[in-house]
This record gives sequence, structure tokens and C-alpha cells, in this order.
Amino acid sequence: MGDVALDRYFTYDEMMQWLKDLEAEHPRLVDLETIGTSYEGRDVVAAVVTDRETGDPASKPALYIDGNIHAGEVTASMTCLYLIDYLSRRGESDPRVQKILRSRTLYIVPRANPDGAEKYLTTPEHLRSSVRPFPAHRRDYDPPGLQAEDMDGDGRILTMRVRDDDCGSWKTDLEDPRIMIQRRPDDLEGPFYHLYQEGAIRDEDGDMVQDVRLPFEVVQTRYGLDLNRNFPAGYRPTAEGSGPYPLSEPETRNLVEFITAHPNIGGALIYHTTGGVLFRPHSTIKDEEFADEDMRLYETIGSWGTEATGYPVVCCYGDIWSGVLDDWCWEHRGIYAFTPELWDLVGRADPETRKDPIAVRSMSERDRRELECKLLRYNDRNLGGRGFVQWQSFEHPQLGMVEIGGWDVKECWQNPPPHLLSAECHKNIQFPLLFALALPELNIDELTVQRIGDDEVLICLLLSNRGYLDTCISAQARRQKAVREDVVRLNLPEGAELLTGRKVTEVGFLRGYGSKPDRSSGGNGRPHRRRVQWTARLAGEVEGAKISVDIRSERGGICRSSVEI
Ligand SMILES: [Zn+2]
Repeated sequence: MGDVALDRYFTYDEMMQWLKDLEAEHPRLVDLETIGTSYEGRDVVAAVVTDRETGDPASKPALYIDGNIHAGEVTASMTCLYLIDYLSRRGESDPRVQKILRSRTLYIVPRANPDGAEKYLTTPEHLRSSVRPFPAHRRDYDPPGLQAEDMDGDGRILTMRVRDDDCGSWKTDLEDPRIMIQRRPDDLEGPFYHLYQEGAIRDEDGDMVQDVRLPFEVVQTRYGLDLNRNFPAGYRPTAEGSGPYPLSEPETRNLVEFITAHPNIGGALIYHTTGGVLFRPHSTIKDEEFADEDMRLYETIGSWGTEATGYPVVCCYGDIWSGVLDDWCWEHRGIYAFTPELWDLVGRADPETRKDPIAVRSMSERDRRELECKLLRYNDRNLGGRGFVQWQSFEHPQLGMVEIGGWDVKECWQNPPPHLLSAECHKNIQFPLLFALALPELNIDELTVQRIGDDEVLICLLLSNRGYLDTCISAQARRQKAVREDVVRLNLPEGAELLTGRKVTEVGFLRGYGSKPDRSSGGNGRPHRRRVQWTARLAGEVEGAKISVDIRSERGGICRSSVEI
């Protein structure tokens, strides 16, 4: 385990203080950068992590990581913090970290949506994402009906069961009366119930309705935005919460602008909760349209994630959502991106579901009840019962006697209970460590100058990619022209004349050692190494003159070398 015990979820101020302390402690390794502001004006920050003594952050290949764009998914934030802490403290003891700090940059945005997380952490509210009311008409007033509220003042919004033996659609389970199951036509005798979110029935002005009768409208949340439907790739205005147009929100714009402004980014991990699965693109583009080599690498990289976490890789194609960030990273930038859904309550309670976490969504009534039993058993044994609140009578000001209770989503569903948090973070940072090491890595193997006449020299450069991935990262990046070819620039001393070769040479992309060699073409047209030669005539005193080369690979790094004649 790491050195830091993250045993609670930080508010915004606590997180910022924690980051600033870490930055002060490790100024060489950690630098905080404000990448934009949120709807309510909070700074959204990135921790830029690399060893600045071995090069500028922008000169090294980079992995991008963010978390918590969904308000309640605060484990994502904490995992980012855990990773920043691990990288800044483990340079000596973990050879992977040593290598990463020396030759890679990590851009880590721990809280992409600070407003939403703050509301989630400091009020009983459950909200999906942004605090900006949406759709727009909800801005001025809420339509009349039942609105979620903490009625009994215990700081939580749970479930209300309201008895109605005539029309209620739920009944209690005979074996475990905590469980609510659907009433069948041959259930003739009650008690039967309606289930609602804990709340009050209010009118257009927000006042409590005096004379409430069943049935009443249940109002949809005013926090209807879903920032992870607001990205441009596959954006659909009809996807739930996708917002009025792509990148309409400051939180999504911040991320897209940041990633675009950092062409050295070659991979991305976007942390969410929950489910214990590693989602990968694309929601609207079939796997068959991926280049074969890209598909193979997507699967290979994903399998490292599965090995580290036990979470299977699931492709999102055809799912209900679109306009998500990992799709954009892949489709527009051609970088391998994954969305790890951290924390797997269901997988822990029922290890069988691990193989197919998505199947839970379409379970039969019977299977769902089975699962509920397992979840309660896990809750009782492993969580000290704190995930489920026993049904308790409550005199509701409008509905009379009701019962409030049920699963406490904030306590154990959406995020692990605090005593399991550090272990969850530790498990999940193994994937980015490996992923960062896979990035391309440009190297100058040799730079020599040889006199071939009185005032003429032959200059030879040998450069290589020592990384796993190609310097372009993917065929998708080349297709989209998202990455520029690697370029070599030769710098000659004053007055020298270039006889052969070019001052600026485009050398194409260099293959990584993880790329599958295509034997017929000697490596799919891209070599691991490139040799570049020039001849030049020097003016004046040749002895001691300096010749240098600059190599700029957007995704493989920037290097410089020089020789004296
Ligand atoms: Zn999410």
C-alpha cells in the first residue's frame, strides 16, 4: 500500500489544501495548474507530475487522467489524489515510478466538476453532474410535484414507502422484510406500498401543497445536466442530460481545451464510479471500423487494466449514451482512452456478476431479488450494516404516517465506505502506471560528425523509439491528422552551407516495440529506428564548431543533442 491513508472524501477546500501542501513538499515533481473555472467559479486544477530536472513537462510523452465529472463519483477524485501522492513519494522505491518521473508527464485533473462534488459532499442532494439547472425552464421554478428532500433531518435522502393496499405496487419480502419486491396479481392481501424518493410535494412557488392525494407527480431533478454526454464525439441533443449543444458547459470545455493544448498526450484514463468495469470507446462507431492494429492494441492495453483491477473491459457501442469523453479522445485525437468505473459493490456481493457487470441492468425480477439478498448479506457482514437503513416510521407533514429507509446510496453504492477507500485507490493506480510506461519514447542513439574534406563534414544521426507504442499512437490518429510527423531540425554554425539533406526533415512516425511487425513490408512501413545524414561545408575555423539537432515528436517527446567538430 501507499503512504497516504485516504480514509474520507475531501471537500473542495480540503482537496486544494492537500494538493498545495504536496506541491510545496515536492516542487520538483508536482506543479498545480488552473485549467479553467467551473459554472460557480471554482478553479479546476491539473496536477502536472514529472521530474523537472530531466525535462520540461511538455517535452515528454504524457498520460492524461481525470475524475469526478459526475458529482457523486468522488472515489474518482480520491484515486487521482492517491496517484499524485504515490508518484511524488515513490520515485526511490518503485522503479516504475522512477522511470515515469524521468521520462513521462502525467496530467491529472482530480475534480473535473468541483461544484457538483461539493453539493454532493456537503448536502443531502444526489445530483448527476452539474449544478446548473437544466433544462432551462427549471431555472426559474420547479414544476409542481414530489421533490427529493431530506424530510426527517438525518442528512440523507432515502426512500419513502407509503402504504396503499388498493393500488400499491410493492410488498415486503417474506424472508427479509427489508427487501421490497414487486406485487403480483395473486398477491391479494396487503400491506402494499408505493415507493418514492424521500421528499415533499410542492407547488410552482416551492410551497408545500396543502391537500395531497395520491397519485401525484414526481418531479424530475432540476440538476438534469449530464456533463459526460456533452462532449462532441457522437453528441446527441436527445441523449439524457446532454445539454443544449456540444461543449456548452465550462467543465467539458476545460477538459477538451486542455487535452487539445497538450499534443504530447498519448493516452487517457477517465475515472468514474461505479460498477467495476473498464469502458472503452466507441458508443457510435463499430469495432469493425477500427484499424486492426488499433483494435489489437486497445485489447492489449485493456487487458493490463483487467489484470490490475479484475475489472473486465466493455465496449460501449450501441449503449444508451454518447457524447462521452473517452469517445472524443479516441475519435478526434486517436489516443487510447478508457473509463474505469471504480468500486464494485455488486461484484463483491456477487462475484458471478463480475464477468458481465452490464447484465445487471436487464435482470429478471427473480434474479434481482436474489442479488438484493446477496447485497444485504455483504452489507451486514462487511459493511457493518451501514449501507442499508432500516425502515422507520415517520409522520410526514403531507402524507401522514410513512416509513423512511432503504439503501443509503451515498454510504456504500456510489463510493466505497471510507475504510475500503485506500485499497480501492491503490488497486486502480496500477493501470495508469503501466499505461504511462507504454507511451512512445524518442531517443537520440547517436550523433556523429566526420570530416570528409578540408572544410566538409558528414553528419549522422540515429534516433529510435524505445517505447511500446508508435510515436503516432494509433492509425486513428493518422487518419484524423491529429498528430504531426516526427521532425528533425539540424542547426549548423554561422556561415555553414548545407550540401545534402534538409535543414528540417520529416521522418514519419517511429514504431514502438509493442507494434506488430508486418514481415512482408519489414514492419508496416514504419521502422523502430531512423538514420538521417547530411553533408555541409563549414566556413572559417572548423575546429571546435558546434552542430546540434532538435527532434520533435509530438507524442514521443522532444530531444536535443549536439557535437563538437
Ligand atoms: Zn460517471
